[in-house]
Amino acid sequence: MSNQLVRVGIIGCGNIGADHVDRVANQVSGSRVTALFDVATERAQELATKVGAVALATAPEVINHPDVDAVIIASPGEFHAALTLECIAAGKPVLCEKPLAPTVEECETVVAAEQAAGRRLVQVGFMRRNDVGYRHMKENLDRGNIGEALIVHCEHRNPDVPDSFTSEMSMTDSVIHEIDTARWLLGEEIVRVRVIAGKQTPNAAPHLNDPQLVILESESGVLVSVEVFVNAKYGYDVRCEIVGSNGVTSLGSQDLGQYVSNIQRNVTMPANWRIRFGDAYRAEIQDWINGIHAGESRGANSYDGLCATAVAQAAVRAVKTGQTVNVTVPEKPAFYA
Ligand code: NAP
Repeated sequence: MSNQLVRVGIIGCGNIGADHVDRVANQVSGSRVTALFDVATERAQELATKVGAVALATAPEVINHPDVDAVIIASPGEFHAALTLECIAAGKPVLCEKPLAPTVEECETVVAAEQAAGRRLVQVGFMRRNDVGYRHMKENLDRGNIGEALIVHCEHRNPDVPDSFTSEMSMTDSVIHEIDTARWLLGEEIVRVRVIAGKQTPNAAPHLNDPQLVILESESGVLVSVEVFVNAKYGYDVRCEIVGSNGVTSLGSQDLGQYVSNIQRNVTMPANWRIRFGDAYRAEIQDWINGIHAGESRGANSYDGLCATAVAQAAVRAVKTGQTVNVTVPEKPAFYA
């Protein structure tokens, strides 16, 4: 594989799938797109024509195509587990967008199948691990620059969401990123979760709690506060700070630029996740391709995907019941060490 391009098949050509098609074809090195599938067949065909790939009639045809070495799954979450299992059966590396699956049981099936296959093939699309700011924070913590982590503060603000968005989706679609980031930064599991909805914005649909405050607790007792506010209006704003025993580390400026005029400083914010994390997605895909060339597994694995779903599902129960919910995850298999 080392001197050849990795031939990538992509399933799901919506928001992020179409972006990944462009990244694999045009923005990273060592890869090309060879086959696509989407239930919206015209969307897949249009993209395939742009990048010189074929649009196939079903997802299994993409996975099992002789000109496909590796697969990206970017269809809606409910299809992720079955497609990932099919990639494992075909012995092909797969980058599955988050979530690995909406239920813990499905995630467990993937973890079991991957171990039975005896090869680490699955990466989950938690791209914040590839964001420069988060990587600096992790380096500062791991090098002991701020002492021991005590508290993590996170904010996750979107300008707006469609009316179909629910309080539970704030956990499964948005906070799941902070869940994975907290596990990765701290190197610990999350064991408890609580969700509080206080004063609400007038800008949210009546069925949606917005904002919500999520309190995650790690094994060693580190508290992680996550403000999730999906109708924040002013821009896409993700913040994170770790408070340690000897210092603090936080994400740097998210500004896209600023100007000063009329004794005012004007700052341009990212409008959405695509802009804010564009470099991180690119780095994620490049790292995945490099890993395939090197025969290595990198990034968030199936077990990480399972743990993130377990915490997100506990957060959904916390939203519904107003109670603190304990999280139980199976012990990490040596296979994922
Ligand atoms: P989207 O815009 O709705 O795209 C999904 C695409 O898959 C649509 O074209 C949809 O067609 C198609 N589709 C539906 N059923 C399918 C099936 N059975 N097989 C193949 N394709 C199917 O959604 P999205 O925003 O791109 O999200 C896709 C996935 O990526 C989700 O799991 C989401 O959580 C994840 N995501 C991750 C990030 C991140 O930051 N890592 C960001 C965005 C999204 P129709 O429109 O005709 O249904």
